[in-house]
Amino acid sequence: MSKGQRVEDIQVVSQDVRTGNQRFGGVPLHVSGVSKTFAGQGRMVEALRPVDLDVAAGEFVCLVGPSGCGKSTLLSIIAGLETASSGSIEVSGCQVSGPGIDRVLLFQEAALFPWLDVQRNVEFGLRQAGIAPQKRAELTQKFIELVHLQGFERSYVHQLSGGMRQRVAIARALVIDPAILLMDEPFGALDALTRDRLHAELETIWANTGKTVVFVTHNVQEAVALADRVLVFSPRPGRITHEFRIDLPRPRSLEDHDLMNESSRILHVLKGVMDEHEREQTNG
Ligand code: ADP
Ligand code: MG
Repeated sequence: MSKGQRVEDIQVVSQDVRTGNQRFGGVPLHVSGVSKTFAGQGRMVEALRPVDLDVAAGEFVCLVGPSGCGKSTLLSIIAGLETASSGSIEVSGCQVSGPGIDRVLLFQEAALFPWLDVQRNVEFGLRQAGIAPQKRAELTQKFIELVHLQGFERSYVHQLSGGMRQRVAIARALVIDPAILLMDEPFGALDALTRDRLHAELETIWANTGKTVVFVTHNVQEAVALADRVLVFSPRPGRITHEFRIDLPRPRSLEDHDLMNESSRILHVLKGVMDEHEREQTNG
């Protein structure tokens, strides 16, 4: 990024890495009756009750719920890494039957290659896709700048902070131009200040790329800060019990009064869902 240029000014019209055609935005995601029961070691674990979920192209949806309610399972099924026991996933109207470069999944621990430097980590997917060296270098640099890591191209993973690692993971995911970003508590291990900064960066990146995002967190404030829509999951077996549309203006600040009010409202509902679940367990 040249001096004085803000990240907001960088044009991130994404490019189909194989054809070079420019495109903008994400695609719709349709989850229909997806359930999951894990079987093993003589017992069955019902992780998800049938879940229906429609995410519009370019929408930012957050899933919140207690730990163990099946959030990661749902993301893995959408990513095509796990098979559903019933139901189906459609991306842009086409049924998903396995992993694809139209969807990337990001985790709490950035799964980077420790033997590669930042630049090579980011360009990894482009190499896999057989993109020519010059184009590869150009795209890699663009996305390194987008996540503010210029100057760290030659650094290795162990030389980076947790926040920087997540930035590398985000750049590496975006450079291959997925239509859908699936994020599983990606900032859960970061300190509050770094998380705050990454929220702002992610919001900007999302606004500039128009990606469809499904973001899992157990942090209700984080969900309200980022989402167009927050969906509340019940404890296991998970199902969606409540939905909140978040119409607060962007960019959002965690200190904003309306944001705090909205967060407490959702937290209150979430606690109610958990209490009810506990009562059901106790009674029977
Ligand atoms: P969350 O992400 O909401 O914390 P998960 O999706 O990780 O929840 O897990 C939901 C439930 O499914 C948990 O009870 C977990 O132990 C169980 N589970 C997840 N993955 C497996 C697996 N591969 N085999 C058996 N049980 C699993
Ligand atoms: Mg999880």
